[in-house]
Amino acid sequence: MHGTYNFWLVALSLVVATLASYTALDLSGRIAQLPNRRQRHAWLAGGAGAMGIGIWSMHFIGVLAFTLPIAVGYDFTITAGSLLIAIGVSYFALSVIAHDTLGPKRLACAAVLMGLGIAGMHYTGDAAMQMQPGIVYDPALFAASIVIAIVASAAALSIAHKLRADEQENVHPKRMAASVVMGLAITGMHYTANAAANYLPGAICGAANGVDLRWLGTTISIFTFAILIVTLMLSRFDARTASLVQSVSQLNSRIVYMAAFDSLTELPNRRTLTEHMERAIELGKHGKGLFAVLFMDLDGFKTINDSLGHTVGDHVLRAFARRLTECASTGDTVARLGGDEFVILVRHVGLPDDARRVAQAVLERMREPIWIDERPLQVAPSIGIALFPRDGDTVEALLKNADAAMYAAKRAGRGTCRFFEADMNEAATRTLQIQQALHEALDKKYFSLRFQPKFYGRDGALAGAEALLRLNHPTLGLLSPAEFISIAERNGQIVPIGYWVVREACRQIRRWQAAGLKTTKVAINLSPRQLAQPDLLATIQEIVRAERMGPERIMFEITETAAMHDVRRTADTVHAFQKCGFEVAIDDFGTGYSSLAYLQRFRVRQLKIDRFFVDGLDANDEEGTAIVAAIIKLAHSLGMNVVAEGVETVSQREKLEALRCDQLQGYLLGEPLTPDAFGALLRGNGDGDGAPPLRGAPAPA
Ligand code: C2E
Ligand code: CA
Ligand code: CA
Repeated sequence: MHGTYNFWLVALSLVVATLASYTALDLSGRIAQLPNRRQRHAWLAGGAGAMGIGIWSMHFIGVLAFTLPIAVGYDFTITAGSLLIAIGVSYFALSVIAHDTLGPKRLACAAVLMGLGIAGMHYTGDAAMQMQPGIVYDPALFAASIVIAIVASAAALSIAHKLRADEQENVHPKRMAASVVMGLAITGMHYTANAAANYLPGAICGAANGVDLRWLGTTISIFTFAILIVTLMLSRFDARTASLVQSVSQLNSRIVYMAAFDSLTELPNRRTLTEHMERAIELGKHGKGLFAVLFMDLDGFKTINDSLGHTVGDHVLRAFARRLTECASTGDTVARLGGDEFVILVRHVGLPDDARRVAQAVLERMREPIWIDERPLQVAPSIGIALFPRDGDTVEALLKNADAAMYAAKRAGRGTCRFFEADMNEAATRTLQIQQALHEALDKKYFSLRFQPKFYGRDGALAGAEALLRLNHPTLGLLSPAEFISIAERNGQIVPIGYWVVREACRQIRRWQAAGLKTTKVAINLSPRQLAQPDLLATIQEIVRAERMGPERIMFEITETAAMHDVRRTADTVHAFQKCGFEVAIDDFGTGYSSLAYLQRFRVRQLKIDRFFVDGLDANDEEGTAIVAAIIKLAHSLGMNVVAEGVETVSQREKLEALRCDQLQGYLLGEPLTPDAFGALLRGNGDGDGAPPLRGAPAPA
């Protein structure tokens, strides 16, 4: 007896098998990710139900696609039994796939069991027809159907296991392709098994009075689709929830990261450093854990930020951070405290020299320029080192002392490192006090001017005065500019203070004039920060004009170092000053390592030789004298007159006079004087009798 196949139902069975396979793949991905055991079991059971119904109904639709020329029916109990087998097989398959590992042995056993299960389901389904006499199976095709079932199971299991992780690339298209292959394998098995079945002529179906076939087919199809799709939707929804949970936890770890790390350099921040230091201190207290704290910042970083912009500043900070990390060893902590302040916590320091070596490595590494837009930028750090437990046994003390040591390194000339010493704290405290004093100085009138006379070398007549600033503080006492100018320079207070000096100098000249004295030119010092002010000249002119003072009464001194900082700009500034009638001198000549010929570009009329060379006249004798002689000669040939600073001894004065030095300034001839004392000097000078008041200059203030 031969049956015929309904093409549409065969196609439908293939679709159901594919959908069931896809559901299985999707579920296995879900189940593998579930951390909770109970959830895993629930999904396994639900999934196995859906998938089992899918496979079983595929089988059933396949059966319905085959029409025998006799009336056919199915026994309910046996049919239900075949469904149970399908669900059992699915449960087994899903749990195999969801397992972490799937070795060849495990795969082989699982495939055999699953294949037998599927075959069992199929032949049980056949048995539900209760054919009399029974179906005779072709042994070869029967065996083939079982082999196909086992091979298809092996393929399905290993594909599903490989595709179970949701985060793979293109996982959904891959699963779709795989489920088509799996669907084909399952239907292939079914139709091979069907081909194996021979219905004997005259056989009748014992269950023919059972359920109406067409009704059954439609119900099963709709039911199966519904179950599979609902299962898929549930699985997707659950995946979305899980991915939401995952992104929340990602966000959370980002927040935790931000609280512990600096976003610009990705280095640990102050909080993390504190934690690491606390741990190191704890360990150190229990044993031999000597460690060092290297505190550093970049010299002149503020200038880079101000002049080249924050993008360049950020670039420099990142490059610095990278280099620091390279210089540190594993176990050390490199942290950014904020701004350009960085710390390296160096663990396992045996000797202070170990810490010095790290600092030296950082200084060495920073000697290489940082390239920004093909432009080299040279920045050097100053490094202060504090050692545990010698320099402190709390985080605060160690950081504070390392910071104080860093300031000492800066004072010692920048681009160096210093170990902490007890008196550095006092220095740091004093710096703070001076900062505070400077803050109030203008309002509370702490400033005053001293005037140091300059004399002509040829006849000793008074040539002029240099205005020198003093800060008279109620508790700190009389402060020398050597102590406070650099601080005022660093925090920018020098700008308003500088204008005060100009105004006060003008007023003082007027006071002397009002007292009927013949006044001299007064020289005023300008610092680098003042020179960087674009409206410097305009503001000075305004002040001078407001004080009704002529520009010929005032001149300005610019140190060689400041002048060399930006040569073209200095040249423009100097020329602008000269155009307005102010004379300009180069101060501290010889400390800036530039050549006189180069300085000629500024076209200044006066050059002040630094005290260092004047000292050399006594100390190095021959050689020292030769240098000063050369400077004076060259300056004269370039049309400049020369002032020697810091003349303290008679022999210096005599040598300078012999070398035809134009003007002399120094304690030997006159210390910085109060306005009244300088007034007295002017009085002696103003009679016009030409008697030089040199050697008996008034007592210093
Ligand atoms: P400077 O321009 O080189 O001023 C000369 C300094 O040398 C003065 O120190 C002066 O008192 C000192 N001096 C003069 N003769 C002798 C001597 O024979 N031997 C020795 N050992 N020193 C001598 P002072 O007044 O402490 O000023 C220090 C520096 O502070 C000045 O060096 C100048 O650069 C700066 N400064 C002073 N007043 C001002 C100011 O109003 N504005 C600015 N921007 N800087 C100022
Ligand atoms: Ca000066
Ligand atoms: Ca000087």
